[in-house]
Amino acid sequence: MSDELPYIENEAGGIAIPCQLKIAEDCVQIGQFCESREDARHWAEEECWIYSGEGYFCVQCNDQIMRNISNLQTKKMN
Ligand SMILES: [Zn+2]
Repeated sequence: MSDELPYIENEAGGIAIPCQLKIAEDCVQIGQFCESREDARHWAEEECWIYSGEGYFCVQCNDQIMRNISNLQTKKMN
């Protein structure tokens, strides 16, 4: 698996994975800062973040997408 994911590093050298979408009002924006990229990624997976192939996005944003899709479908039907 490639490791070209976007990572965020803080002053303390912690590494976190940002949410790729940031479309939900309650989006967590950034994952927990961990000691390594592997840990950051592990954290995202533990939190059930969704891997898009280019990055991860949080469960809240996933819910938002689902809502958007169902809104779209409702509009089409009317
Ligand atoms: Zn998000």
